[in-house]
Amino acid sequence: MRPLIGTSTKMNLTSSEAGSYFDALLPRLVGATGCDLFVLPPFTSIWVARERLSGSPIAWGGQDVHPAESGAHTGDVSAAMLVDLGCTYVEVGHSERRRGYGETDGLVAAKVAQILQHGMTPILCVGEPRKEAPEAAIDYVLGQVARGLAHVRPSDLARVVIAYEPVWAIGLGSVTAPPDHVAAVHRAVRRWLNRTGTDGGGIVTAPRVIYGGSVDGTTADELLGADAVDGLFVGRAALDPVQFEVIVGAGQRRAAGSRLKEAPTSTSAHG
Ligand code: PEP
Repeated sequence: MRPLIGTSTKMNLTSSEAGSYFDALLPRLVGATGCDLFVLPPFTSIWVARERLSGSPIAWGGQDVHPAESGAHTGDVSAAMLVDLGCTYVEVGHSERRRGYGETDGLVAAKVAQILQHGMTPILCVGEPRKEAPEAAIDYVLGQVARGLAHVRPSDLARVVIAYEPVWAIGLGSVTAPPDHVAAVHRAVRRWLNRTGTDGGGIVTAPRVIYGGSVDGTTADELLGADAVDGLFVGRAALDPVQFEVIVGAGQRRAAGSRLKEAPTSTSAHG
């Protein structure tokens, strides 16, 4: 599976600043052909992403969406509006929205359904609020995953990205979750998805499970090397294009490593 590496710039960067940011990012990431890449600017800068990133390997998307098709929802943005601006990814259920706006799993599930209906990829954020043993974290996270994907048909599961973001590992003053903790949770999520993502008995390709929480250039390799980690979701560190390039470089190494692992099989198949 190609590593998926992306960032949400959260409520940072005006449209003018976003233009400079994308201009700095593009030449640094354009050669990263082994990874799938995305950026999620604030709504006000999505048009800038379209302007600067069209035709590049960097996809863009929204940090949230309203679950309704259209109508009297002051201040909100619909899935159709995001599609119209070329968005292919939409983040939902980030802990800052769950905490700040009381977003429930039910609301998150409705948003996931709306995003899929409009042909975009939901990035469903899940994560336990406090540091605890992997077993307890897994219980919490699988509950969020099941409720957040409640309206997704098994055959559509492969279109979803799960972002495991332990809340205690996110933001200023935090450090990344230990790779063995991350691996344990990712394995459990993947098992759940493999079990659920069947359609009439056949296993549907599992969606990617990516990790987010204080990732930077010094931790990216180790986290990408953890079992069942399919990519990284980056906050603060990616605001610096140089750091983001380093993180994507780790993704490139991981992609090259996977190709090397596959190579002996194909060599022996050809004699
Ligand atoms: C996030 O909030 O989703 C996140 C990953 O942030 P940071 O990398 O800054 O911890």
